[in-house]
Amino acid sequence: MSDEIRLPRQEHVTPPGIQHHFCEHTGCGKDAGWGFGKPKHTPHWFCFEHRTDGERYL
Ligand SMILES: [Zn+2]
Repeated sequence: MSDEIRLPRQEHVTPPGIQHHFCEHTGCGKDAGWGFGKPKHTPHWFCFEHRTDGERYL
């Protein structure tokens, strides 16, 4: 008998407060680490390369 406890694998869990987004730049689709937007509005997300695209939403 084994009392090993098997936890479900959680491979796609991100740390609290960090959500997974994709760059909104046309044709990019990379992981987006930068969110731009006014408070109470849905932010727009861009990758490092295209983060300047988001400044128009600020
Ligand atoms: Zn991008």
